Amino acid sequence: MENIIRKSDIKAFNNLLSKTKEVAIFTHVNPDGDALGSVLTFQMALRKRNIASEIFIANRVPESLAWMPGAKSIKHNASKTELDAYLKTADLIACLDFNEPGRMDQLAYALENPPLPVLVLDHHPQVKEYEGLQIGSTRYSSTAELLFWILKESGNLPLTREMASCIYTGIVTDTGSFSYNASSSATFRAIAELLEIGFDKDRITELVFQQFAASRMKLLGHMLANRMVIIPEYHTAYTYLTRKDLADYNYQPGDTEGFVNYPLSIAGIKFTAFFIEKAEYVKISFRSKGNFAANEFSTQFFNGGGHLNAAGGKSHKNLSDTLKEFEEKVKAYYNEF
Ligand code: 5GP
Ligand code: MN
Repeated sequence: MENIIRKSDIKAFNNLLSKTKEVAIFTHVNPDGDALGSVLTFQMALRKRNIASEIFIANRVPESLAWMPGAKSIKHNASKTELDAYLKTADLIACLDFNEPGRMDQLAYALENPPLPVLVLDHHPQVKEYEGLQIGSTRYSSTAELLFWILKESGNLPLTREMASCIYTGIVTDTGSFSYNASSSATFRAIAELLEIGFDKDRITELVFQQFAASRMKLLGHMLANRMVIIPEYHTAYTYLTRKDLADYNYQPGDTEGFVNYPLSIAGIKFTAFFIEKAEYVKISFRSKGNFAANEFSTQFFNGGGHLNAAGGKSHKNLSDTLKEFEEKVKAYYNEF
C-alpha cells in the first residue's frame, strides 16, 4: 500500500525511541494545524512511552488553534539560554513538518549544527540531511498523516481521542478540507481509522474554521475587493495586505490562513500569491494548480520553498517593490505554465 512506511524505517524509529529519555521537539514558525497536530500527537505518543519532551516554536500558536490539547504548554518564547539548557538535558531533537533550519527563525541555530541526533518526520522535499533518522516523503497529505502511519505501523497504539483530533486537524488543514494533496486512498483510510477511535469531527470543523472574529471576514472582503490583481494573460492573480490594512481590521495571527487560495477559484487562474507586509519582511504564500512548481518559483526568486502546489517565501524589499518584482518574475517565467 502506497502510504505505508518502510519496515526498516519503523524498526529504526522504535530503536531510536527505545534509547531516548528526553526530546526537544520543534516545528516551523507560524505553526499551522499540521505543525501543531503533529508535534502535539508526537508528544502524547512519547508520554505514553515515558519519554519526556518540550515543544519549542519560534512564535505563538494562533488563537484558532489554541484549543488543541497540549497547546498551552508549548514554549513559544524560549530564550537562547533556556533552549540551550534544554538541549543539554535532552538526548534527541525531533523536527516535525519542516526540515530547513531557516523555518525556525530565531531558533534556527539549534539545527544548523545540531548537538544531538535529529529525527525528522516531514512531508516537505528534503533539503537538509541530519545525523539521526528522517522519515517521510512528499506523497503524504500532511505530517500528521505520516505520523499516524508511523505510530500505527510501529505499534505505538492505541491512539487516544485527543491524538485522533490532533491528527485529523493536521490532515484537514493541510489539504484545505480535502481539496488538495488528498487524492490518496490511504489518507481516507487514515481518517476512517481516526473516526473509529471516536473524536468529534464536527466540533473540530467548528473550532478550526468557524470561530473567527467578524473583522477577519471584513479583512478578507477588503482584500478581495481592493487588493487583488489579476493578470489573465499569465494565468496569475495575486492579493496583498498592507500593515495599515492589518491594523484597520484588527488583524490577529492566523487570520489570513487560507486567504491565498481564493484567486485560484477564478477560471483560468493557475498561479496565485498572497503578500502580507510584516514588520521585518514581506511574507509570501504561493499556490498553483497542475504542474506549475510553486516551490521552485519560491526557491528561485523569494528565498522560500514548500510543495509543488503550496509554497511560501519572503522578501526584504518593501511591499510595492516586492509586488513589482513578482510581476516581472511571473512574466519571465511564463513559459513554464
Ligand atoms: P503557507 O503559504 O501556508 O505559509 O505555506 C505553504 C507551504 O510552504 C508550507 O508547506 C510551508 O511549510 C512552506 N513554506 C512557507 N513559507 C516558507 C518559507 O519561508 N520557506 C520555506 N522553505 N517553506 C515555506
Ligand atoms: Mn504540513
